[in-house]
Amino acid sequence: MSINIAVDGPAGAGKSTIAKKLAKELAFVYVDTGAMYRAMALYFLNQKIASDDEAAISAACADVEITIRYENGEQQVLLNGENVNGQIRREEVGNMASATSVYPEVRKKLVELQKALAAKTDVIMDGRDIGTCVLPDAQVKIYLTASVETRAKRRFDELQEKGADCNLEEIKADIADRDYRDMHREISPLKQADDAVLVDSSEMTIDEVVTAIRKIYEEKCR
Ligand code: C5P
Repeated sequence: MSINIAVDGPAGAGKSTIAKKLAKELAFVYVDTGAMYRAMALYFLNQKIASDDEAAISAACADVEITIRYENGEQQVLLNGENVNGQIRREEVGNMASATSVYPEVRKKLVELQKALAAKTDVIMDGRDIGTCVLPDAQVKIYLTASVETRAKRRFDELQEKGADCNLEEIKADIADRDYRDMHREISPLKQADDAVLVDSSEMTIDEVVTAIRKIYEEKCR
């Protein structure tokens, strides 16, 4: 049986950075489920479907095929055969993903793919509903969070480093909006699973968080 580590938490808590590092240390496959919702969202944007048009989005799901491939350990997301990794990190795509991930058709399609990936491989999978819905039997469940202020500041520093023009208050408002939407949607809202361990990274470095989660894994799986 494969070993599954589920990492859930709000946007900007450091899930992907930490899960990627830990996956490398443990020789697990890192599965970024947010990237799958982003790829679906990119399709809807390209088709000019409005985020509130549930009927059109549900119908369009039948035309979308999302597949995952690994190149040098890096997850590549293919949208109908095209590698879209370079296009899904845009703010616009993230917002569309957050708005369209509320629909059952979208979730059904991606949850099936995620379950299939974890059934045959040792994975660290990050997202919002991994411990509660996708992998309810995961051996290790982590709920990784940080204060809105910390997450906004991290995002602000990241954008500044790239030379982007950004405003801390706007980023904070955007993160708070995204949290609210992810936590209050009807299906699979973001919440800590009963058996998940809470890790608050507000005052921790990346390496400290990796070490803490590794320790939890070793206690449970060794
Ligand atoms: O994590 P990331 O910011 O890439 O995710 C984009 C959006 O996809 C999230 O805001 C969330 O609404 C949605 N998502 C989800 N369930 C997951 C992963 C992501 O609903 N397992």
